[in-house]
Amino acid sequence: MSQLPLLLERLAALIQQSVREEALRHGLQPVHLQILAYLARANRYSALPIAIAEYLGITRGTVSQSLALLERKGFIAKAPDEQDARRVQLRLTPAGETLLAGGWSERLDAALVAMGVDREALETELRALLVGLQRSNGQRPFGICRRCAHFLRQAGEARCGLTGESLAEAQTEKLCREWTAPVTAAAWEAQD
Ligand code: SF4
Repeated sequence: MSQLPLLLERLAALIQQSVREEALRHGLQPVHLQILAYLARANRYSALPIAIAEYLGITRGTVSQSLALLERKGFIAKAPDEQDARRVQLRLTPAGETLLAGGWSERLDAALVAMGVDREALETELRALLVGLQRSNGQRPFGICRRCAHFLRQAGEARCGLTGESLAEAQTEKLCREWTAPVTAAAWEAQD
């Protein structure tokens, strides 16, 4: 067996430790930081309690208690959807964004840059591994919108082929719970 599973296990443990320490510094539990990090990256279809529970693999009860605490502390707020005021979304407040700034994910990315790692190639490999494992575990994959099988670009405008709605450019970089893997590698690459 290669050393890759062990290396991935060590990296995951190191990241978990960083999340625990950061959470402690802010008087929070690790799950609270994980929820904030998810909401910072979730698109307008996915900034919902049910999606948080699916993404993190935790109960709806834990999500609901955590959201109540984060809202009380002023790190998140409910806001109407930009395209449909009847929908309510969870959004980070400026205090929530400040709390995440300079966190473990930014430090890890900076380390990869400093090492000269081909981040795009590594990202593609790791994503393929993640999607494969999630599929075999029966989990929703979640993924970046512009790499989804339903993503369309027509006359320069981004559009979701599943909902038929147009997508603001910033939304195309976010995570979506309805994400579907492109059928072929060529289709995957074409969406870059
Ligand atoms: S194109 Fe895919 S990822 Fe993007 S909003 Fe539609 S379903 Fe979600």
